[in-house]
Amino acid sequence: AKVAGKNCHRFYSRAMDQAVERRVTLERELRGAWERGELSVLYQPVYHLSNGRMVGAEALLRWRHPEHGMVAPSVFIEVAEQSGLIETLGPQVLETACKDAVRWQNRRGEKGPLFVSVNVSPRQLRSPVLPKVVADCLVRTGLDASCLHLELTETAVIGDEAQVSRLLAELRQQGVKIWLDDFGTGFSGLSHLRRVPIDGVKIDRSFIADILRDPDDLALTTAIISMAHSLGITVVAEGVEREGQYNLLRERGCDLVQGYWLGHPLPREEFEALLG
Ligand code: C2E
Ligand code: CA
Ligand code: CA
Ligand code: CA
Repeated sequence: AKVAGKNCHRFYSRAMDQAVERRVTLERELRGAWERGELSVLYQPVYHLSNGRMVGAEALLRWRHPEHGMVAPSVFIEVAEQSGLIETLGPQVLETACKDAVRWQNRRGEKGPLFVSVNVSPRQLRSPVLPKVVADCLVRTGLDASCLHLELTETAVIGDEAQVSRLLAELRQQGVKIWLDDFGTGFSGLSHLRRVPIDGVKIDRSFIADILRDPDDLALTTAIISMAHSLGITVVAEGVEREGQYNLLRERGCDLVQGYWLGHPLPREEFEALLG
């Protein structure tokens, strides 16, 4: 048993070394990936449930590694967050998304403006320069502030709540809209809605996935919708993969939807083809 234990220990530490090594390698390779053209921003359309019209898009970052192909955002965003690389990558995504959204507004004309929503990581939210980064980007690109939505996760808001609230208030004063992403997965969602100034919540796709089968998930989704509405907050459901989910969400009064059933994340040119 002792020998097995020893082997076991050796095995785990080797696996751990490999994980650490992979991280360090990824971090090194991610540095400069933007400049080498390995990173791109995709856009997933967001629709209004009451009339089926497209109202905006979420910007999602992709990394095509020269040897390994596509790296999952859940992997490389984490690396960027931990290493601090997100502090340069974040603003690059923001700038690209704002620039592209200006193109869409020009093409849309009378159909009305689309919003673009950009994910902001916890680390970016801790940075006091964020409001200035956003303000400068809006000036440089000429995008109307109300067309820019920032998505924050619940966990990013937890912690220094007073400081985050001040920062969000500053952003909202510029006219930018704030959404709480992955809503329902944290533990204190309800209380945050009272204290943190936000415009919308995105119900996490883990709830949406099962609403047709699981009465609890449907009950929670319905409760989030009615609670948000009573506070004057817009509700987005993400991860809508079937028509049945779409219909059910419409019946329950959800405002906006996003998901594979309506449209996958697309490269800019393909997304722009949807604009007509
Ligand atoms: P997220 O913000 O929750 O983004 C939604 C994710 O759900 C995206 O995954 C999207 O491709 C996926 N998705 C959309 N519709 C469906 C659907 O119908 N079914 C299923 N199963 N999935 C759907 P993706 O692009 O892999 O991104 C994963 C996460 O990486 C994002 O989750 C976000 O947290 C992070 N991320 C992506 N781009 C950025 C970025 O530019 N900055 C930051 N800070 N984080 C980003
Ligand atoms: Ca998001
Ligand atoms: Ca989400
Ligand atoms: Ca469930």
